[in-house]
Amino acid sequence: MKKLSLFVFIDGFGWEVYKKHGFNNKAIDTRKKLKTTFGFSSGADPSILTGRYPDEHTHWSSFYYDPKNSPFKFCKYLSFLPKRIFDRFRPRHYLSRAMKFINGYTGYFEIYSVPFAHLPYFDYLEKHDYFVPNGILKTDTIFDWCVQNDIPYHCSNWRKSETYNINALKEKIDEGDIEFSYLYLPTLDGVMHTYGTEHEKTVEKIKWLEDQISNVYDYANDKYDEVSLHIFSDHGMCDTQGSVDLIKVIENTGLVYGKDYVAMYDSTMARFWFMNDEARETIEDLLSFQSSGKIVDDDELKEMRVFFEDRRFGELFFLTNPGILINPSYFGLQAIPGMHGFHPDHKDSHSLMFSSTSIDENINSITDIRKVMEKEIRDEK
Ligand SMILES: [Zn+2]
Repeated sequence: MKKLSLFVFIDGFGWEVYKKHGFNNKAIDTRKKLKTTFGFSSGADPSILTGRYPDEHTHWSSFYYDPKNSPFKFCKYLSFLPKRIFDRFRPRHYLSRAMKFINGYTGYFEIYSVPFAHLPYFDYLEKHDYFVPNGILKTDTIFDWCVQNDIPYHCSNWRKSETYNINALKEKIDEGDIEFSYLYLPTLDGVMHTYGTEHEKTVEKIKWLEDQISNVYDYANDKYDEVSLHIFSDHGMCDTQGSVDLIKVIENTGLVYGKDYVAMYDSTMARFWFMNDEARETIEDLLSFQSSGKIVDDDELKEMRVFFEDRRFGELFFLTNPGILINPSYFGLQAIPGMHGFHPDHKDSHSLMFSSTSIDENINSITDIRKVMEKEIRDEK
């Protein structure tokens, strides 16, 4: 008896997005809302693969404070280049690619819009690939587990297009050897960042995903005696309501970046490190009166399992209210229609899991998806 467990990852396919647009697939039996982890995909995706929280697998936000070991030290010389040319996406994208090549990085690497003068304070987390066995995460992934347990599997190549990866999976299905597959479909996330959750393009993209997934499922059923299908996501998507120019708010204090404080402005979160107590008090005071968001204290960070004793990800955290973007931020110079990375308890943050089998009651968080994978693969035996 030949069985295939087909796991399909759809980036950004939130529970609320599903409730708005639906998702047809004749094989789906159970649909469940899952809680995501606090932060961005850089923390959520490893949480799915390891079944652990960021404080255990140690991957959280992409940029972390480490001026000593920063690979960006040379960037301070670039800060004198004309901003209107070198702060655009393309030149920065090419520079990211060049750095990737020179340093032999294998992970997803982008310097986004982080100012050249500020890059030397940071190191970057995703220098190497964790979608391969023996990757860079502190705890093992489902792929390590497959290797240890002699499970033949196939995982998409995240560098390639969705169509490429769907065809690559079909070829593996033709061969008939794999028992587990991880199909990686990331572009719905980008469509919703660009157009929001309600746009026609989003509806079209979901329809396309429905068709593709049904097609792969049917294809697998022709080759295997039994196929189980599991569709899941890392987080949801929230339509943008407004923005706050937090960089200006902080700069208006007169405090000096690099002398008094260092900050990383993610699109929904600002993280600070302090060089003196006065800077800490001034910024903490200022943020506590901001109506656009709130300070996330250490107790809450611990509760959300993203607290790090060495403070590499920040000493003080400010999170904007759902729908409010930090703009400009170090991840973009324009407010875009959709974003994630707000509080994980907000409805638009929730991710989902659909299965052709029943989903156990104790599966409630993206960190539980790993359990479902292991169970499905074990049941084949
Ligand atoms: Zn995204």
